Formats: sequence, C-alpha cells, structure tokens
Amino acid sequence: MVKQYSPITESIPVIHIPTAPQSTPAQRNTKLHFRSQSGRFNRWRRGLNTLLIGLFFLLPLINYQGRQAIWFDLANQQFYLFGASLWPQDFTLLAWVFIAAAFALFFVTLFWGRVWCGFLCPQTAWTFMFVWVEEKFEGSRNQRIALDKAPMSLGKAGKRAGKHSVWLLLSLLTGCGFVAYFVPARELYTAIFSFSAAFWDTAWVWFFALCTYLNAGWMREMMCLHCCPYARFQSAMFDDFTQTVTYDAARGEARGPRKRKQATELGDCVDSNLCVEVCPTGIDIRNGLQYECINCGACVDACNQTMDKFGYRPNLISYTSDTALKGRSQPLWQRKRFLGYGLALLVVLAMLVLDLQTRELIDLNVIRDRQSLYRVMDDDSVENSYLLKIRNKTQQDRHYSIAAEANLPLTLSQQEVFIAAGEQLELPLTVRVKPPIQQPSYQLRFVVTDSLDTHQTVGQTSVFFSH
Ligand code: SF4
Ligand code: SF4
Repeated sequence: MVKQYSPITESIPVIHIPTAPQSTPAQRNTKLHFRSQSGRFNRWRRGLNTLLIGLFFLLPLINYQGRQAIWFDLANQQFYLFGASLWPQDFTLLAWVFIAAAFALFFVTLFWGRVWCGFLCPQTAWTFMFVWVEEKFEGSRNQRIALDKAPMSLGKAGKRAGKHSVWLLLSLLTGCGFVAYFVPARELYTAIFSFSAAFWDTAWVWFFALCTYLNAGWMREMMCLHCCPYARFQSAMFDDFTQTVTYDAARGEARGPRKRKQATELGDCVDSNLCVEVCPTGIDIRNGLQYECINCGACVDACNQTMDKFGYRPNLISYTSDTALKGRSQPLWQRKRFLGYGLALLVVLAMLVLDLQTRELIDLNVIRDRQSLYRVMDDDSVENSYLLKIRNKTQQDRHYSIAAEANLPLTLSQQEVFIAAGEQLELPLTVRVKPPIQQPSYQLRFVVTDSLDTHQTVGQTSVFFSH
C-alpha cells in the first residue's frame, strides 16, 4: 500500500511542516541512530570535516617568528595573527571580519542552502566523529538499536565503557584544543596531561570538554533542531532558486516497493526508507523542505545508490530547487538577494581593507601632570610635565622619536625612546620654554614617529600653561 504523501509546498522559501511527519527522535523520546552512508557527498563531508578538525588542533601549535601564530593573549589584551598583533582598539577589524563572514554565509546559503551546516559546522563534524567512534564499539545502526534494547550485560557494559572513554578523551583533547587559542598551546597539552596546569586553565579545559561530550555525544541533532538560531532564520535567505536537498515528488510518487526490473505503474521511489535511516536529523526528506534538514547530502547518496540498483536514473533526491524541477530558471543578475548580499559583502570587504590600511601601529596617549599646572625654574623658564603612554603595536622592537609642535620655542626632556615588540612604555616627559612667554597657555601637539618607518606617526594635542 502506498503511504500517505504530503505534497511539497508550491513555492520556496517556505518552511514546510509536514502534515503527516516522521516523528523526530526528540518527539519519540528515543535516541537517533543513523546509518553510515558512503558516496560522493559523504566523501566531501568527511574530507571537509577532517580538514576542519585537523586545522582546529594544528593551528595553535604553529609558531611564527618565535611566538604562537594564532593566540588570543587575554592577559595582555593582544591577539596575535601570524605577523599582525591586534589590540582592543583594533577590534573594529575583527567586527568587519565577522560581518563579512556573516554576509558570505548568507551569500552561500542563497545558492546552496544550509551546506555550511552539513559540511563545515563544528557541531556536525564532531557529531559524525563521535558517531564513528560509537560505530567502532557498538556496530552498525541495527546493532546499536538492538544493543540499546538489550538488558545490561558484561559485554554491553564493556562496549559502553570503551565508547565513553574514547568520547571523554576526544572531549578532553577538544577542550585543550580550544583553550590552546588563549594560552600557550605547547605548554598546555603537557601541563594538562601531567596534571600540573594552572587552576583556571584546567577548569576551562574541563568546561569545554564537558560541553563537547554533551553536545557531540548526547545532544547531537538536538542542537541543530532546538538550539541553533541559523536553522530558524535560514528561509529568509532562500529564494526560489536556492538549491537545497529536494525530493522530486513528481517523479518519485506514487512510491512503493517492488522487485528489480519489475514493470510497475508506481513512481521511482521504491520506499526503501534508506533516505530516512541515513539522515542525521531523523527526517524524511520526501515530506518536503523542512527546517531540520542540514543539507548534508547523505540521503542523496543513499537514494542514488538505490536508484542505481534498480536501474533508474539518479537524482530522485538531489541538490536542486522546486522551481528548477518545474523547469524554470532566472539569470543571476535578476535575483534580488544575489545582488543585495553581493553588494553588502563587497562593501564590508572594502571597509575591512580600508580599516587595515589606515590602522596605526603606534598608540599614543598623553596625560598632563595633574599635581601642578606649571613650574617656574631657577632660570625663569617654565616647565610642564606630562605622561606619554606609547605602545609599540608591531611584533618588532622599535626606536621612536618624540617631538612637540607649538607656536613657541620649547625643549623636551627626551626625544627618543626604545620600545620592545608589543610593549607599552609610560614615559614621564617635561616640556620647558624660556621667557619671554606672551600667553598664559599654548596648544601643543606631541608627535611620535617610528624611526625606521617614518610613515608610521601619531600625534595628540595637549596644553602648555605658562602662568
Ligand atoms: S534530509 Fe538528507 S540532506 Fe537533509 S539532513 Fe537528512 S540526510 Fe541530510
Ligand atoms: S532512498 Fe530514495 S527510493 Fe529509498 S525511500 Fe528514499 S527516496 Fe525512496
């Protein structure tokens, strides 16, 4: 008998709520065990996930110019990114990077839906890694379901213990990997595994380890279904031509089982249920576009292999759009969201480049001495005191010249300083002016210039009081 079929909604973007849905594991209150699937999209996902996890662990271990290449040094309020060091004042740069990343994500989503979720999201990558471990200890999907139902035994306890031990080890490594972006990485791993790490380093590592263990081991698809905001607002980025994983209902229905090469009036869907069994979020894509779908392509691989076995054309499920299935197309330049996101992305990238080019590598803050406005010296000259805070924002030691520009002849107590890479110098400085002095006060501007790169110069205005 042909199962009830809920038609795909007429137009995208609309999140379709199936009328007769396959209940999710959360609704069924059971753990979701999905079948592992081979195929083209699985290879892509596995490759990208491996790259992502590899980069996550390796990046903090890379050294550049004698220092960790990527390092959020919170204690000294610096962020090292290979040759550049960013300070809290430079965080507009990071803001531009995040805004650009958001628009890039919108842009990609417009074309291929939630491919980010399916192929590059850390939640997906870690979940698949944990499921791979689970499979090694507890077997295939059917074996895992049977094991869940079986009463506790020595064998079951052993499998569970093995799985959870490896999960905990992976979680602990992930916790270290994350904290390694904030404290020196090489020392951290040694210290954590020799139980000699500082209290807060240990606490943060275990906190992130616990989050990883719960997220990837237990919550898995629940995070995508109930916690991730992206799943909820994705449809706002789609247009009629967004390519999401879509079931070709016109071709597949009426679905039904049959023998190979058997002549039938039915559609191409042989109702193998494989597309449901491989789905990491436990949905039936044949019910139409659903917000739970992370566009991972596992069902595409499963269905294509089924089609192949039955000698049918591939792509009963494929990355396409409902509109494309109806044979309609539209030139790129007529897609409003393409133009909007594209323009926004270009503007943000331009702002980022501009911000980078105008970034100052010297920071100067001039503070007047608050104790006395001025001092009259033995030779009748007048002296004012200042505190100059000069920060060398480069990663090299530098010499700087100090000058003061004003409409009167003055002398400085010091005209050159040396500041080590990334350090801030607090320099007490006096400015002295010989009489005659006409006005009670003068504006003056302190200028600090990099002795090697004279284009790098900063200035700040202050006041000189004479009487
Ligand atoms: S429906 Fe298909 S593409 Fe969507 S999450 Fe499930 S398996 Fe992945
Ligand atoms: S895998 Fe393909 S043939 Fe099998 S139930 Fe899903 S859509 Fe139908």
